[in-house]
Order: sequence, then structure tokens, then C-alpha cells
Amino acid sequence: MIYMDNAATTRLIPEVISEMIPYLQEEYGNASALYPLGLRARDAIAVARERIAGVIHAHPGEIYFTGSGTEADNWALCGVYEKLSHRGNHIITTAIEHHAVLHTCKYLESRGCEVTYLNPDREGIVSASEVERAIRPETILVSVMCANNETGTIEPVRAIGEICHAHGVLFHTDAVQAFGHIPIDVEADHIDLLSSSGHKLNGPKGTGFLYMRKGLKLKSFIHGGGQERGRRAGTENVAGIVGYGVAAQLAAEHMEAYAAETERMRDYMIESLLNAVPGAALNGSRTHRLPNNVNIRMEGVDGEQLLLHLASKEICASAGGACASGSTDPSHVLTAIGLTHRQAAGSLRFSLSHETTKEEIDTVVKEIEAFLAAGA
Ligand code: PLP
Repeated sequence: MIYMDNAATTRLIPEVISEMIPYLQEEYGNASALYPLGLRARDAIAVARERIAGVIHAHPGEIYFTGSGTEADNWALCGVYEKLSHRGNHIITTAIEHHAVLHTCKYLESRGCEVTYLNPDREGIVSASEVERAIRPETILVSVMCANNETGTIEPVRAIGEICHAHGVLFHTDAVQAFGHIPIDVEADHIDLLSSSGHKLNGPKGTGFLYMRKGLKLKSFIHGGGQERGRRAGTENVAGIVGYGVAAQLAAEHMEAYAAETERMRDYMIESLLNAVPGAALNGSRTHRLPNNVNIRMEGVDGEQLLLHLASKEICASAGGACASGSTDPSHVLTAIGLTHRQAAGSLRFSLSHETTKEEIDTVVKEIEAFLAAGA
């Protein structure tokens, strides 16, 4: 198998598994319990919280564990609306957000919220000055992702955060694709709320967190017990949280080295594909790009058929966002950056890891060439 779908999910690495295993076996205590088994579970969660906070220069008390990146996005948007709708009912976001943000915005619109969806430029970059122009007296929140899951385009988060804070508007960023992959500093970047997900950085699925700046105090999104300082009810996923903490720490420790290795492979793959496929072009920005993202459009190619061909050779890639696969609609991200439906349908995303090799890339390029030569 050749796995090039790391933006969809990643594999659990041995270091993560080995730290999780005790909490799936003998250390099975409920973190709310007062006997030693429970206290050890609570301590393990505290360690993970510290590790994660360190990656983004936050305080551990500003990290709230959730069950997914989607939940963190929902909480951030709904929580701000619930808290501040008496002050204003306008939210600014972008047309290229993940559905976890876009569908939450649609829900909030049904509750009376007004949402502005900014379009990016052709490279997928959202302009900070356009964000500023869209701010109105009744704007309560700006939500712009750190990096896009389809095109890999990295957004000017720091410039946007500065503008938000200059105007007294809260700033949320969906960092699901960026956390642990590129540097983020919630202080320097002026971020009030940040969502992340464990399974995008070699951690377990079903884990996420919301960073909530101290003092913000959004209400609970999930009601019940007093876990997560009374803000996110539900017995903690101790093993998952432990794994997430290790994965985050390792990702941060190796960030520079992994990014450099992955970028080298990314650039090699982009060049190889552009050379091998007549009329192929890169989607997204050449320079403001996640180290692992290759998104190529191939004129006149049926991306879905090509994807199936690759799948039959055990090559894992994606057409558009993984969450949208199975849908016949063209990707909302690719159409928002100006691609026609045909161009979007002929686009494939390969998301690499630092373990991707040149040989794997050569094999994938050869398979694409074979598919095109067969005229399928
Ligand atoms: N936001 C972005 C940018 C994503 O890429 C994803 C998942 O692909 C999510 C949110 C949802 O995260 P989760 O899978 O943890 O719910």
C-alpha cells in the first residue's frame, strides 16, 4: 500500500500506542474518582494538557478536550454566538472552511445570525484587508482556518488576528490541518479560539481540543457532569487524550525536520506530476503551502475514475476533502478558488508524510501515466 491521504487521517505511531496502552489496560480509572487509580488517570490528562498547550504557547488551563475537531469548531462558533449575540449578530468566515465550520454557520444563520463568507484569491489565500473591510460594528467573531485541508494553502492568520483584535472582535481559527505541522503561537497570532484534532498528527481518532483564551468562558457545549472544569461534560477519553498529548509533543519536537523532509518530497511530486501530465497545474499556493500537500488538476481527466484506478493498486489519495467523498458535487474549496466544475472534477489531492519516499512517488506517477495512456 502507498498511503498519500494523511490530510484525511494518519497512522498511530508506536510511541503513541505504547503510552496509550496502560490506560486501555490496567490504568482504566475514571479521572473523576478520588482513589489512586482515578488520580493517576487525572494526572495523565494533566500531562497531555501541558504538552498540547506548549505546542501553541497557551496555558494548560486554556485547553479543553473534545471528541473531535468538528466538535471544537461547533463549540467555538455556537459558543461565541450564544455568549455575544446580544452585542451583535454578525460572523465573518470564508467560503473555503471545512464543513465543520460552514455547516455550523448555516445552523447559526437559521438562528438569526448573519454570516459573511469571504472568497479567497486564486491561490486560496484570504486577504486580511478584506477581513477588515467586512468587519461591522455588530461583528462578534471572525473564523478563518490556519491551513486548508484540500489545497494546503496557509492563511495569513497573524495579520487577520491583529486586525480582529484592533477592532475588538474575537478570532477563531480551525487549525485541524496545521496544529503540529506548522508553527502556531496563540499570543503572537492573536488567536482567541483554536480547534484541533488528534488523528491528523499520528494521534488517535475521536480526540480534539478547543483552545479558549483565558477569561473568554464560553458556555458548555455538551451538558452533563463537571469534567473539563465544568465546560465539556462526559467521562474523559483518557487513553485518547494521553495519545494526543504524546503525538502533539513529538510533532512539535520534529516539526522542522519533518517539514523539511516532507517539503522535499512534496516539491519532487509536484514537479514529477507537472512533467508527466500534459496540461496539469497545481491548485493552491506554491509558496504558502502545507509541507505535505500536493493538489493537482489534470485537464480532461476524470478524477474519480483515476482515484478508483489508484485505489485498485492500493494507492490511497483523495479527490477533494475526504469528508466530502461519496458526494458528486464539486469541491466547494476548488470552485471558490475559481476552478470550473470540470477542473475541480479533474483534481486529486495527495497528502504526504515525512515517511513518503521518492520510490513511492515514482510509482504513483507511473500509475497515473498508465491510466492516462490507456485513455480511460
Ligand atoms: N477542520 C478541518 C480543516 C479538517 O480537515 C477536518 C477533518 O478533515 C475537520 C475540521 C474535522 O476534524 P475531525 O475529523 O476531528 O472531526
